[in-house]
Amino acid sequence: MSVIQVNNLKKSFGKLEVLKDISTDVKEQEVVCVVGPSGSGKSTFLRCLNRLEEITDGHVIVNGHDITDPKININKIRQEVGMVFQHFNLFPHKTVLQNITLAPVKAKGIDKDAAKQTALGLLRKVGLEEKADSYPGELSGGQKQRVAIARALAMEPKVMLFDEPTSALDPEMIGEVLEVMKDLAREGMTMVVVTHEMGFAREVGDRVIFMDGGYIVEEDVPGELFGNPKHERTKAFLGKVL
Ligand code: ADP
Ligand code: MG
Repeated sequence: MSVIQVNNLKKSFGKLEVLKDISTDVKEQEVVCVVGPSGSGKSTFLRCLNRLEEITDGHVIVNGHDITDPKININKIRQEVGMVFQHFNLFPHKTVLQNITLAPVKAKGIDKDAAKQTALGLLRKVGLEEKADSYPGELSGGQKQRVAIARALAMEPKVMLFDEPTSALDPEMIGEVLEVMKDLAREGMTMVVVTHEMGFAREVGDRVIFMDGGYIVEEDVPGELFGNPKHERTKAFLGKVL
């Protein structure tokens, strides 16, 4: 069963064609890593999966719902698709706990106490229970990103999208965030991860997509894509980053 199905997705900004013809799908419990040079369209691709970008052509089907259908309740779909960004995007004037409980209470109508208990459980899971009453400004980058992951999980999403979640972090903090993501993968979370962490993609990814110039040039299991790339552009890219 596909959690996300992408059929001939195209996305332009004005005259700039960014995604040219993307088709792929993400199965339940699959971890798909997306790699490729800067500007190749990775973020735009991810943002099309929950319609943070208007889709120019083609179809994206999430949990059986075609999100390109103008009649769809996109907010409902977005509740099922958690997203974690490079720059955390936490609410600076809210505590860690408030950051995590806000959407479940406001958007899902979950009881405040129940939301708080869930949030504390998620903070325990990401190793930050003692930071519940801190403000984002009091946290390190790695801690902020772990809170952002807990916040996304609080909505009980069917799939998690990560856009370079460790790219803004100091090197010593990358590991703690990747560990949380590995735990999630082990628990069977369906994940799409745009990353420059080739070690993570190789170890945790079930499949790796290499994007370049708005196309999926090649996708394969990590062993093949990294060990035996078929396309010149994949070889050239991997030659630079590995
Ligand atoms: P990546 O994440 O692989 O670095 P992006 O998806 O961010 O690539 O960007 C792909 C291309 O789309 C780039 O040329 C970028 O400048 C362009 N682009 C991205 N977002 C916008 C936007 N909102 N308006 C115009 N151009 C954009
Ligand atoms: Mg990007």
